[in-house]
Amino acid sequence: MRPESVTLQEADNDVLMPSGRIKIHIRCRKCGEVFILRGIRDGRGHVETGFRRCLCDNDREFDIETLG
Ligand SMILES: [Zn+2]
Repeated sequence: MRPESVTLQEADNDVLMPSGRIKIHIRCRKCGEVFILRGIRDGRGHVETGFRRCLCDNDREFDIETLG
């Protein structure tokens, strides 16, 4: 099963094509911490970032928004 929106996976920026780079806004639903990261869109609405988990050890409950 693949998530529909954004997956939180390690992205190897040196291997992937540089064309689809976007900013990702991630907010932790547990502690409210906000992260702004660079992600790579693969053309099918799938976005990869290097983000894994929040400082509070939450790794699945986030509000994730792409900033273009
Ligand atoms: Zn958190």
